[in-house]
Amino acid sequence: MCGIVGYVGNKSSLPVLLEGLRMLEYRGYDSAGVSLAYERDMITVKSKGKLCELEKKLAERNIQESLCGIGHTRWATHGAPSDINSHPHETELLTLVHNGIIENHKSIEGFLLREGYSFVSETDTERAAKLIDYFYKQTREPIAALIEAKKTLLGSYALGVIFKDIPSKIYALRKDNPLIVGYDGSSSYLASDIPAILPYTKLCCRLSEGRVAELSPE
Ligand code: GLU
Repeated sequence: MCGIVGYVGNKSSLPVLLEGLRMLEYRGYDSAGVSLAYERDMITVKSKGKLCELEKKLAERNIQESLCGIGHTRWATHGAPSDINSHPHETELLTLVHNGIIENHKSIEGFLLREGYSFVSETDTERAAKLIDYFYKQTREPIAALIEAKKTLLGSYALGVIFKDIPSKIYALRKDNPLIVGYDGSSSYLASDIPAILPYTKLCCRLSEGRVAELSPE
């Protein structure tokens, strides 16, 4: 198991992400990472080891406040625990966190290689991220891209995605893995489990199986 946290709203996202990941530590993990979205930029920082290792790396950077981000604690299933295999996985058009296993990652890789993609990690997750990138190039519409990906992805997954050209929204999709969405009046939250959201709001619900969620401050 691993942990997913997402935040979009009027607060700085990084403290919410780190606090949320801390609340999900009970699920076990071997590495951690965050992506922070900006108007014209995306910053991804990830590290093998405990959350304090990630925090050390973050402290070495001059991180500007971001109002939208996703965070992840990884329990490695495909590829060793390492900085590169840690989530989030950034592609040209998006950044993505994943909980679960993509069973057909090999055939997705073959397809994407023929389409000109290359890979830097050993994870099944990077193949899923680049598949959604591929569909986003075709559709230029986040929900359509995720629905296309859903038709191809086999296995179990909870996904959190930020598209780089939509830095004020988080998209989520799940199959056979839990995801909770929450709202507090001016911010939206995404998490693998309720404890990560409870300090901020009690208005939350389980994302239905196979549904796509679009989270915005509204
Ligand atoms: N299968 C993915 C990986 O190994 C996600 C594992 C998880 O759920 O943390 O990177």
